[in-house]
Amino acid sequence: MRWMALGLVLAVSGTAVGQVPSGGPQLPEQDRVLSRQIFKEFIEINSQDSNGSVTAVAEAARKELLAAGFAPEDLILAGPNGRKQNLVVRYRGAAGSTLKPILIIGHIDVVEARKEDWTTDPYQFVEKDGYFYGRGTQDMKDSDAIAVESFIRMKREGWVPKRDIVLAMTADEEGGASNGVDWLLKNRPELMKAEFVLNPDAGGVELRDGHATAMEVEATEKTYADFKLTTTNPGGHSSLPRPDNAIYELMHALEKLEANPFPIEVNPVTHAELGEEAKIAEPARAKLIAGVLAEPRDTNAVAEFVKAPTDNAKLRTTCVATMLGGGHAPNALPAMATANVNCRILPGHSQEQTRQELIKIFDDPKLKVEYMADDGTITPVAPGRESLAPPPPLPEVFNPLRAVTAEMWPGIPVIPIMEPGATDSTYTMMAGMPSYGVNGVAIDYNDLRMHGKDERVRVESFYRGAEFYYLYLKALTKP
Ligand SMILES: [Zn+2]
Repeated sequence: MRWMALGLVLAVSGTAVGQVPSGGPQLPEQDRVLSRQIFKEFIEINSQDSNGSVTAVAEAARKELLAAGFAPEDLILAGPNGRKQNLVVRYRGAAGSTLKPILIIGHIDVVEARKEDWTTDPYQFVEKDGYFYGRGTQDMKDSDAIAVESFIRMKREGWVPKRDIVLAMTADEEGGASNGVDWLLKNRPELMKAEFVLNPDAGGVELRDGHATAMEVEATEKTYADFKLTTTNPGGHSSLPRPDNAIYELMHALEKLEANPFPIEVNPVTHAELGEEAKIAEPARAKLIAGVLAEPRDTNAVAEFVKAPTDNAKLRTTCVATMLGGGHAPNALPAMATANVNCRILPGHSQEQTRQELIKIFDDPKLKVEYMADDGTITPVAPGRESLAPPPPLPEVFNPLRAVTAEMWPGIPVIPIMEPGATDSTYTMMAGMPSYGVNGVAIDYNDLRMHGKDERVRVESFYRGAEFYYLYLKALTKP
């Protein structure tokens, strides 16, 4: 799940700041060829949960790295079953170094793609009109290919990092019951030990009209939760309607959900993010943001601000009905109706706390509000899981990031953001490792196609992203 914060509006639109592809060092021809070849290979392996194989991607990556001279003992395949093997790659640092490794996590599964929905075959790598098309071109086989290619390039150049760099290519971030990061942390924790974690599944360079406007770094994220609502009654003959119709009762509950949004909250990351945005925003937008950040908050400004879904999601927990079911015959009163309510919970609030809030909003003791886990299991009470407090902006991470960003996209700000979606960083954060979403592949703010049809990435964004990650890894590990 890669989902960038939106809404940066440049006061100086038309000024060429870091237009793709110009500016900064360019990816050498040899690495263009290699990164494209690996990217193509990854895209053309179906790794969706229903009928694909994550293991096939892990094995393809392992083969490339073996051929580039990585030792077999530094390329560990591990996982719960044949189809869900993860690959953990270790790039050895300077001998005798006592520094803990850097861990990069990248999921190699993809969201289901149906050929009949697409213009091209989702599992064919197609280059067309300046774009690469295929499932995973944005989320996130682009970054997987870039990480592998950067490792090969550094190896070829004889780069010796001051600490080990570990790359975990993992299963089931998008779906499925075998999340690879979770599995590795539980079953092979020795492979995953790190000072901090980089996850290219979040953050990234935002493009507007071909211009880079910001380098966004994910510093915290929301927690995901599904709740199952159920209403039941005895039903009966449809010629004799009764007021306790299960479908109507469910509808009334959903109307209350729509009418009662969760309270506004500005957390430290959102505060910093909006503060940075205000500096480069158009005057009207900057004024609006000032009202949102004011103490006390300007309620009119907040009301205006949250009209945009992307802005609304920054300031509150959101819960929305996403699926409905009910009734069993056209001529019978419904004896049961159900809905799925999907919540994206702000850091500092747990899943169970959110379920309690929903119960208060519905205010209907006959309505069941249960928690549904990722694997479909339903329980009456939700876990106490919540997003942890954002990690501090480590200078180790941010100083090299600012330097490389300035080199490749001069003038754009580096902005910490809260991801409205959720990524595997949840697991590494829970394991106590500060985790940051860093990504150098620039994506147009209005061309977010992850999880959708005809997923694509600009050809030059991909190559620039490869150059960025290589430079960033070297800057992070300079002796
Ligand atoms: Zn993703």
